[in-house]
Amino acid sequence: KPITIITIGMAGAGKSTFVQRINSYLHSENSPPYVLNLDPAVAFLPFEANIDIRDTVNYKEVMKQYNLGPNGGILTALNLFTTKFDQVLSLVEKRSDTVDYVILDTPGQIEIFTWSASGAIITDAIASSFPTVVAYIIDTPRTSAPATFMSNMLYACSILYKTKLPFILVFNKIDVQPHDFALEWMRDFEAFQEALATHGGTRDAEGEPTYMNSLMNSMSLVLDEFYKNLKAVGVSSTTGDGIKEFFEAVEASREEYETQYMPELDRAR
Ligand code: GDP
Repeated sequence: KPITIITIGMAGAGKSTFVQRINSYLHSENSPPYVLNLDPAVAFLPFEANIDIRDTVNYKEVMKQYNLGPNGGILTALNLFTTKFDQVLSLVEKRSDTVDYVILDTPGQIEIFTWSASGAIITDAIASSFPTVVAYIIDTPRTSAPATFMSNMLYACSILYKTKLPFILVFNKIDVQPHDFALEWMRDFEAFQEALATHGGTRDAEGEPTYMNSLMNSMSLVLDEFYKNLKAVGVSSTTGDGIKEFFEAVEASREEYETQYMPELDRAR
């Protein structure tokens, strides 16, 4: 059975470049993936999608017809597409003997997928048919400030708990900045707090711990638990660095899916 990689990331994190990179990597490994584009508003796709939401719905027409702004248009387009998702699934299933990887590219506006009913329906439908892993793409250079890092991790954390799927943090753009600071902060919460303190914020003018400090202390428990439940890899979508390691994490996730997610799903049925 193929494994599905759901790619999620903030706009600008490099999601399209990453999908293009793993796509060409798999082609070079003689294992071309089956690619699904779920972004109705993408103007140019740097890779070929086997199924493209834009072939089914025109989000600009949807905007006009329903009198919506861009975000409403994208969300409504995704909703319309979701009503046909059983057909999409059967197309993927037809290819499941010949394909090892299915790549699902999500809308550039992250919350349209992560916080919509359609996003949840699509995720659940895919994940109950195929081993599935979430790849959360992070703009490493832009997440090196401790406070930004924490909000990014909390966002990832909320997606993990919502989907309960195997999860890979993909620190992208390591050609610009290596991700070792992130690994260090994930391993050692005190190092992270230290960084946060020196960047200002956890001590007031008298040098006393602030509200932020006590918030951080309670947060550390949540984040430690979160970090235990995921894998992290550093990649450069531009140079291809780390892509092999990413696929090792994907393979490990397949196992995690079978031992943890599937039994959970069976219990719920
Ligand atoms: P998306 O909005 O998440 O789909 O992001 P894009 O794939 O369009 O990338 C946003 C910008 O980051 C573009 O200018 C890319 O060239 C750049 N970018 C993406 N991945 C990398 C990377 O690994 N290294 C570097 N240096 N730039 C990258």
